[in-house]
Order: sequence, then C-alpha cells, then structure tokens
Amino acid sequence: MDLDLVFLGTSASMPTARRAPAAILLRRGGERLLFDCAEGTQRQLQRSAVGLPEIEEIFLTHLHADHVLGLPGMLKTFALRGREQLGLTVYGPRGVRDLFGNLKPFLGRLPYPLTIVELAPGDVLERGDYRIEAFAVDHGVSAVGYALVEEERPGRFDVAAADALGVPPGPERGILQGGDPVTLTDGRVITPDAVLGPARPGRKLALTGDTAPAPSVIQAAYQADLLVHEATFGDEDKDRARETLHATAAEAAQVAKLAEVKLLAITHLSPRYAGGELVREARAIFPETVAPRDFDTIEVPYAERGAPLLVKRGGAAPERTAYDPGAISRLVQVATAGDVTEAEELQELLRNAGIEAELEPVDNEDGLNVMVSEGALEAAQDAIEALSEPDDIISEP
Ligand SMILES: [Zn+2]
Ligand SMILES: [Zn+2]
Repeated sequence: MDLDLVFLGTSASMPTARRAPAAILLRRGGERLLFDCAEGTQRQLQRSAVGLPEIEEIFLTHLHADHVLGLPGMLKTFALRGREQLGLTVYGPRGVRDLFGNLKPFLGRLPYPLTIVELAPGDVLERGDYRIEAFAVDHGVSAVGYALVEEERPGRFDVAAADALGVPPGPERGILQGGDPVTLTDGRVITPDAVLGPARPGRKLALTGDTAPAPSVIQAAYQADLLVHEATFGDEDKDRARETLHATAAEAAQVAKLAEVKLLAITHLSPRYAGGELVREARAIFPETVAPRDFDTIEVPYAERGAPLLVKRGGAAPERTAYDPGAISRLVQVATAGDVTEAEELQELLRNAGIEAELEPVDNEDGLNVMVSEGALEAAQDAIEALSEPDDIISEP
C-alpha cells in the first residue's frame, strides 16, 4: 500500500514567496489525512497535483495561527461545492473545541456534519491495520504530535513448505495466510507458523508540529521510518529557539539520531532561512536529513522495498511549458460575436494586444466564433475582460 506525504507548506509563522505556512497531506492507499491547515492550504492543494479532495479528517498539532487559519476558508469551500453527506472530523489538542466556537461567525451553518475530537498525549486512534498516536511535545501551549504506526504484516507464504506438508492448493492456503490453522483431510492440523515466514514490520512515521527538542518526541518517533520535525532556526538563533520553544536544525537532528529514525525531514523553517544552511547544520549530526520545499513529497515504502525517499516536486502539478508548438497551432474559441462588426472589433482589440485571432462562422447562426491559438488563450481572455471592467477597479502596479 502506497504511503507518502505531500508538503504543502513548509514555512514558519508566515507565508513567503516560495513557502506557504504549515500543512502536510498524508496519503495512505485511498486515504487523505491533512496535518495542520495554515492560511492558503486549500489553494496550495489546488495548485498541486492532488487538487482539493473532499478531505474527511484534519489533524491539528496546535492552535497557533500559522497552523489553523486555513480552516474557515476550506470548510466553506466544501460547503459551496455542495457537500452534504460526507462528514468532516477535526482532531486536535485540548482547546480545539473552543477554537471552533470562535470560528462560528466565519463558518455559519455548514451543510455537512462536522465533528471535533480533542486528543491528549497518549490517546490512540485504532484504524484497522494502523493506529494514530497523539504524543506530547514541548511548545508551551496545548499541543500534540502525531505518529502513524502500522501493524505488522503476516510473513511471506512459503509455497515449498506448504507443498512439503501436503497442504493442497486452494482455500486452505488462504486460511493459513490469514493467520488461522487448518485441518487436512487426513486429520493433521497445520498451523500458520509452519508455512509463513517471519512477520514483516509495518511502517511508522511521526510528525511533531512545533516543539523544542523533547524526550517524548524521541520516544514517540523511536525507530520510525520518517520523522518530520520542525527546525525553525539555525545555530545562530539558538537562544531565540529556547525562548519561543522551537527547535534548531541541529536539535532536530539530535532528536532524529537518538530516535534512530531512517529519515529526518525538517520543516517549519523561519522565513530568514532558505533551507540549505539548515540542512547542512542538521546533516553534520544526522546525515539522513532533507528539507522539503512546498510540493515536494516523501515516499515511505515498506522496509523490504527500500528507504524513504524525497521526491522533488513530487506533488507539483505538471508544469505548463513556455513554448508548446502543438499549442500554437491549436485554435480555441475565446469569444462568440453576435455579428461581423462585433467580431471584427474583437479581432482588432486582440491584434492591439499582440494576439492574432481568426473568425469562424457558427453553425446555423449569424454569429462568429473568435478563435486564438491555445497558447494565447489566457492573454486573449484578459484583453477581452479588461474591456468590460471600468478602469477604477483595476489598479496598475
Ligand atoms: Zn508554527
Ligand atoms: Zn506554534
């Protein structure tokens, strides 16, 4: 089953031109779990290859503005899209219920069921073949980190052993694979351990949210495949990190080292850092460190298939190429004119904007379609829209 994280926002405190504030989408099979929902998260999703899915569960690490301000807008968008049946559950530390009380004037009445669940460190959500554990962090306010821990998987089925024991091909083998004993026609009882290899480990990942380095994090992330730890500051701002209960990159690396994780991803970087300098500081202590940018993903395969992997722009929408010869030759309709005069006016307007347009008769009607090359469509739409907008609502930079 595929498991990855899409980094939607990797900045601390405020958005920058290159980084949005905190939000991470966890994808496991068909599930989509959102961790934190800072300002602009719904737009980050729309700009990504993911799009804005009908998210059913949001996990908040704490209630600082740079982790929750995206909630009202996203919840309203779900309402505007006509969502009615599908419920939404928001998990968070103590205080999240009050937060939603305060958001009431912004949210109004939502047409779909909204459930708020407050979690304390140590609380566990059992979810079939995995669980989500809330763990304590050290941020001076009500806050939790989250660990996703998969159950062990049954060992590989040993066909040779089953053949040797005389287990016939068919349903008996399925029962054994499922972990139950079978009785053969000759009366012998075969137990699963006779035909299954050792149980295979599940995966584990931990997301801290904001925190100073903390023993509880080391414990919760122990031997995780992936630890996503905040690293707001570099060494030079160590004092500031202590005052504000954040971590430096080196401290995050120390936590990762003590927790013996496979990969450390640092995030929640202060806008004063580009990222590279923080990675260098962390790698001096824990070499397996990455600092994802917005729209990067980290894939977490099962242990036997390899190590967790940062995929640069793995969650980015496909880029529109600046020059696409196919697009130049493809003509698309930008407007329909009621008659020849109007059509020629539009054609003239577009020509003044540097766009060549062709006119095509509309079947069985007097009007004409105004066609431009696909590559020029957006510019043509802008030029036509500008016509219908009074100058005083458009400000020039
Ligand atoms: Zn924060
Ligand atoms: Zn915070």
